[in-house]
Amino acid sequence: MTSASTTRTLEHVISSEQFDREILDDIFARADRLAGHRDTRLAGRIMATLFYEPSTRTRLSFESAMLRLGGSVMGTEAAREFSSVIKGETLEDTIRMVSSYADVIVLRHDQAGAAARAAAVASVPVVNAGDGPGEHPTQALLDLYTIRSERGTADGVHIAFCGDLRFGRTVHSLVQLLSLHPGVRMSFVAPEVVQVGADLLARMAAAGVVFQLTDRLDDVISSVDVVYQTRVQKERFTDLVDFEAARRAIRIDAEVMRALPPNAIVMHPLPRVDEIATEVDSDPRAAYFRQARNGVAVRMAVLDLLLG
Ligand code: ASP
Repeated sequence: MTSASTTRTLEHVISSEQFDREILDDIFARADRLAGHRDTRLAGRIMATLFYEPSTRTRLSFESAMLRLGGSVMGTEAAREFSSVIKGETLEDTIRMVSSYADVIVLRHDQAGAAARAAAVASVPVVNAGDGPGEHPTQALLDLYTIRSERGTADGVHIAFCGDLRFGRTVHSLVQLLSLHPGVRMSFVAPEVVQVGADLLARMAAAGVVFQLTDRLDDVISSVDVVYQTRVQKERFTDLVDFEAARRAIRIDAEVMRALPPNAIVMHPLPRVDEIATEVDSDPRAAYFRQARNGVAVRMAVLDLLLG
């Protein structure tokens, strides 16, 4: 990890595709320095959170990050119901306007590509806080930061992505960040109906990543370093029969934990429904609450990079 900040910066944070190892090292060095820290470097700056889909961790950890750096926050939750969208306003018009009220916009939207549309018309930085089944790049940053802090490095890890790999935007973003690391192996563990998309697999193949697809966690559990479990994204299904089949497919419980190597970890972007049994929470290999805690430092680093 570098200790000095690079001179490179980002205009917006829309996709994990934007990152390379140099920017990642810069963000993680900033996160290391900022963890548990408070100062006033962003005093006078305003962050708007515009959330068209529900959120707990992402919105509150962004707000906490901004407040810890001395900035101010304003926002609208449930923007679909409580903003001018209900009157028919386009996302583009909303963003043009919020650009003149805030210095950075953190946007969560239900449509893939919404953050890129917003960035195209914004006059301030836009951060994609989840765009439908598209991406969630700051979650991927905190996920990667967690892997590095729990295991020392992400180089060479064998990671099993489990659950909803079709609609799970955090998976789409983390896969891309991990592909920048030599020797990474990926196992995509999901039933056919929520298996990872061909486009992402083609990109992984082009990047030289070694991967396999399976619908059985048993096939890989004893050789993985990281299990990345995800919630089946009920809100993206049109057919609830498919959802029910997917929901029951992969579950982490005490029996699965017995087969997991002693130094492996279990991650989850949260919220969890029942895809990880609560009996797993007390196992030291359950890293998901530590992972959520890392969100504040990583988002402080992102805001520092964009506005500092
Ligand atoms: N919180 C994550 C997201 O916004 C994961 C999830 O909702 O299941 O994508």
